[in-house]
Amino acid sequence: MSETSYAQLHPAERILMGPGPSTVPNRVLNAMAAPTLGHLDPEYLKIMDETRALLRTVFRTENEMTLAVSGTGSAGMEACVVNLVEPGDDAIVCINGVFGTRMKDVMERAGATVHAIEIPWGESFSAEQIGEALDANPNAKVLGIVHAETSTGAHTPIDAIAPVVHEHGALLLVDAVTSLGGMDLRIDDWGIDACYSGTQKCLSCPPGLSPVTFSPKALEKMDARQSKVQSWYLDMSMLRNYWGSDRVYHHTAPINMTYALREALMIVVEEGLDARIERHRENHDRLRAGLEKLGLKYIPEQSLTTLNAIHAPDGVNEADGRKWLLENYSLEIGAGLGPFAGRAWRIGLMGHACSRRNVDLILAALEELLNG
Ligand SMILES: *Cc1c(COP(=O)(O)O)cnc(C)c1O
Repeated sequence: MSETSYAQLHPAERILMGPGPSTVPNRVLNAMAAPTLGHLDPEYLKIMDETRALLRTVFRTENEMTLAVSGTGSAGMEACVVNLVEPGDDAIVCINGVFGTRMKDVMERAGATVHAIEIPWGESFSAEQIGEALDANPNAKVLGIVHAETSTGAHTPIDAIAPVVHEHGALLLVDAVTSLGGMDLRIDDWGIDACYSGTQKCLSCPPGLSPVTFSPKALEKMDARQSKVQSWYLDMSMLRNYWGSDRVYHHTAPINMTYALREALMIVVEEGLDARIERHRENHDRLRAGLEKLGLKYIPEQSLTTLNAIHAPDGVNEADGRKWLLENYSLEIGAGLGPFAGRAWRIGLMGHACSRRNVDLILAALEELLNG
């Protein structure tokens, strides 16, 4: 290939049914191709405002401090942590997979004294376990937990956990990367203080932005900081002046990614959040019934509807199986991670990829793979 071959870049049109990214609808791709505006152009500022309003709808929040951080879901994680946590703060992190493990690392790098509670991968935390951790660490200022643990498919009951966290006077930080736009998530009704997500999972937008939202109580803690936020790029006190009415330049926003996110959020709102959540449930039920008929077994007790983690079948090399799906059906699924490496498949049903057509397609493909 020569250097000029970028003009002939034609990636395969995969069906993305892994742990992310998910298939992006053409409407969103087309929005990205619109002319780039300046990042302080009045037309662009209006697009930012519309994006914030749409984010509030999809997060189900009135939080003023709701915006899209430049970067993928992990940047949202980092943004929430470095702003909420000051060096020396006690924090609790709940670990039952890759992303809780990552949150602990990010918290430690931010200087927190982290008290990690860990349960086996695939299991879900209960409100009782959270209460015990808070009793054991009464100085904890923040408790971080993953709503939808993409590495194992485990679903955390945030609605039951939030009141326990607040009774103990801590702030609740939630990773909603694989739930926003696909599963029930209620920032205000449940009382979540800080939450981050990503564009590439159930919103079906390319990776590149991270929606975040902070409650008034989280803002109070951030305003009372004694020390500067350790990350200049992710300092919300400055980002807020750019996304808010002051419009002070901080860094150049990823303009065309904002077009894409706005379009993806419009699609969510047009479908209706409740209808969308129901669609994810219906397709998950259909997939589960089909997988169980093929003799395949789920890993988590309380499964997400957006990510289905199953034990790889006996007699099939899991990596070869995934390769076969990609080569024969242009269909991508994910591998197991951590203790499930080499032993699991992760089938995403996220956003645009979550359809009856795709469920029936993957079931037919797996049947062919397993039964010849
Ligand atoms: C994908 C994911 C992330 C990280 O998002 P990136 O876009 O890969 O940075 C964080 N948390 C969860 C639960 C995820 O599924």
